[in-house]
Amino acid sequence: MRRPARKDLRGQRVFVTGAASGIGRAVALRAAAEGAELFLTDINAAGLAKAAEAVRARGGKVRRADPADVSDYDAVMTLAADIHAEFGSMDVVMNVAGISTWGTVENLEHRHWRAMVEVNLMGPIHVIEAFVPQMIVAGRGGHLVNVSSAAALIGLPWHAAYSAAKFGLRGVSEVLRFDLRRHGIGVSLVCPGAVDTPLTNTVEIVGVDQTQPAFHDFQESFRKRASTPDEVAAAILTGIRRNRYLVHTSTRVRAAYGLQRVIPPLYSLAMRVLNDAAERVLKQSSAPADPSDPADPAAPTKAGSR
Ligand code: NAD
Repeated sequence: MRRPARKDLRGQRVFVTGAASGIGRAVALRAAAEGAELFLTDINAAGLAKAAEAVRARGGKVRRADPADVSDYDAVMTLAADIHAEFGSMDVVMNVAGISTWGTVENLEHRHWRAMVEVNLMGPIHVIEAFVPQMIVAGRGGHLVNVSSAAALIGLPWHAAYSAAKFGLRGVSEVLRFDLRRHGIGVSLVCPGAVDTPLTNTVEIVGVDQTQPAFHDFQESFRKRASTPDEVAAAILTGIRRNRYLVHTSTRVRAAYGLQRVIPPLYSLAMRVLNDAAERVLKQSSAPADPSDPADPAAPTKAGSR
């Protein structure tokens, strides 16, 4: 089945996770402005209610705004069953919700790895399990958007746990882009670089004292290079319209990914330089270790606390 040309989202049922904040909120506002009927969710109930209110205040249609934790399989399945019973299948499903924890491998604890995989990988998988089979049965085609990250393309410093999940989501997307083609369902893998959202404040960098001036400078330089959530939302909607698989939002990330494939030694050199710069920030803003407290995330040995 060929995917029908999609001019805009007018009258389309669009499900968005992570809609309370940042990219999810921005893409919900843009989709609503194009005439989509929205089905929104987020773990943050108050933020979700405010986002739904903002959409409605601009004349947008929010059919449902239900808080849910995407890492909770039963909650996602129940929500989907409820929505399908009342409104039928979705046309567009967007996996946007996510969290971020960075750290060197000697600082990351088991819970950090687990949280990244449960929210950033199993979350989207739950949503795919809950919504995509219904789209296939409905036979109207549609689109699946998975918001991954630059950390799914290149080896960013401190991103091992985050990349584990985001590369995983890239793997799922890479297969589904071909598996779902025969059902007329397009797939977009969105790989933003820095985006100036509340996530830049909530990102946990294990082993780094985030109050140190060196870290503040690092955060500021991240912000200066960041896209706005609305720019990312616009790129996502263009990706859906043009049925584009890889959606970039940063020329630097696109260039680094290009280097990786075309001139691997140059990519390797650039990543080593970046890694050394991160190491300098880490040294200047390391959280003081408390060797007497095995639960202290900055303590030198973690083996006992995992
Ligand atoms: P954000 O913090 O502004 O929004 C993320 C939303 O996800 C929040 O509203 C949060 O409540 C929700 N969420 C978190 N855990 C959840 C859970 N278990 N169940 C349901 N909802 C949950 O951050 P953002 O920058 O808009 O992030 C959106 C996506 O973009 C994430 O997947 C993130 O990994 C990705 N991303 C962000 C950046 C960046 O620099 N901000 C860069 C690359 C990729």
